[in-house]
Amino acid sequence: MEKTQQLHIFFFPFMAQGHIIPTIDMVKLFASRGHKATIITTPYYVLLLSKTIQKTSVYGSLINVLTLEFPCAENGLPQWCQSLDMASTPDLLSKFFKATTTLGTKLDQLLQQHRPDCLVADMLFPWATDVAARYGIPRLIFHGTCFFALCATVCVYRYAPHKDVTSDCDPFLIPNLPGEISLTRSQLPDFDTDDVETQFVKLFREINETNERSYGVLVNSFYELERVYADHYRKGLGFKSWHIGPLFLYNKMDEEDRANRGMEPSIDEHECMNWLNSKKPNSVIYVCFGSLADFDDAQLLEIAHGLEASGQEFIWVVKKGKHEGVKAEWLPVGFEKRMEGKGLIIRGWAPQMLILQHEAMGGFVTHCGWNSTLEGICAGLPMVTWPVLADQFYNEKLITQILGIGVSIDNRRWSMFMVDCMKREATENAVSRLMVGEEAEEMRSRARALGEMAKGAVEEGGSSCSDLNALIEELKQRKM
Ligand code: UDP
Repeated sequence: MEKTQQLHIFFFPFMAQGHIIPTIDMVKLFASRGHKATIITTPYYVLLLSKTIQKTSVYGSLINVLTLEFPCAENGLPQWCQSLDMASTPDLLSKFFKATTTLGTKLDQLLQQHRPDCLVADMLFPWATDVAARYGIPRLIFHGTCFFALCATVCVYRYAPHKDVTSDCDPFLIPNLPGEISLTRSQLPDFDTDDVETQFVKLFREINETNERSYGVLVNSFYELERVYADHYRKGLGFKSWHIGPLFLYNKMDEEDRANRGMEPSIDEHECMNWLNSKKPNSVIYVCFGSLADFDDAQLLEIAHGLEASGQEFIWVVKKGKHEGVKAEWLPVGFEKRMEGKGLIIRGWAPQMLILQHEAMGGFVTHCGWNSTLEGICAGLPMVTWPVLADQFYNEKLITQILGIGVSIDNRRWSMFMVDCMKREATENAVSRLMVGEEAEEMRSRARALGEMAKGAVEEGGSSCSDLNALIEELKQRKM
């Protein structure tokens, strides 16, 4: 590719799996189009990334990694706390976010030295817009969520409808959002509800202000999935944006790629596939709450009882950490023996992409992280929605109310670290509704149709592929 035609794009993801994973997909996508892509990240993630980068040898020479030291010690963080999922207490979380705000100076040095054509930086780095502007570099924001959640966030921020209700359980409508979407205060991310000027309220005010001043927004979604909200975000709310997803569908992934997204799985992927191969199509439900959400023992016990009572076969991922011990005391007595052959528990990290795409899969119990949601949609799976934090309650509304492909567990959230403990009957009922009967079949067939549309979107001439081409052209024009 001629030098004037080749772009050099910097990608700066937040230090969390749910942000790093789609960024790697973007990096590979731009490199596969012949552009240079540089990821800026911290040493902990460089280690994790090295395997992925080596594997992309076809265009590996176009991918580069630059390391920024994560300032743990200066911010009172222990050296091991290098990733959002490790910041498991309010104190660590607060220090973790404080540490991230000091990365601006280091970013400035890198931009000054390398002068890329564009910076794609995570929404959690609002200051990146001003740093890039110093060198005339356009900054694109990557939120890692859908148009629906982006619209809802802007409308809640602009109109503050939650201030008109007196209790956390009273429903209110989100103004200027198509579809009569109602929420309660307990379903909003903290930053939308707090009146006190906490560190997070300040951060999210800066994020909202930066949205208005940045070059534009990249959205890992496809037009056919949420056209009303894509149009509203652009025309109604006035944000320049490109939908270029689902990102993971562009790059042809082999089995090893799909098994090793983010981290090495805690189970041998062949063992997992053999287990699934022995099951009937659409018969297994996959239960996983992403990389951050961690339930206490009481909640795990209720989930176990609920899964058993539903009578469905399942794969259940339980995060490591406090549940790491050999003896699973959070399981009902005799559970593992009774569930032998019927349920598979993965402690740690699952090869989620491989599992979801297996024909034995019939449904997905998810926390509604946007990556998981999109992966579920692309696999044509209906979902039990069990949101825990951030944009997840918005994503739940999209799945259940707008797309009609999910059953809500109907939980509530009381603070950043506290959600309702859902009783076993809630899991049993939601899982049964999702897996058995006419309604389940209808949801599955709608989900399958969306999965097919997603594939069409990333093909040449498809909606996402066309938006991607338009973005690349625009950036090339700026360069000339
Ligand atoms: N994931 C995985 N194995 C696991 C848990 C998660 O591969 O055991 C992947 C999942 O496929 C998704 C990402 O990690 O790509 C999680 O991102 P998401 O936005 O769903 O949730 P978050 O972890 O950010 O809450």
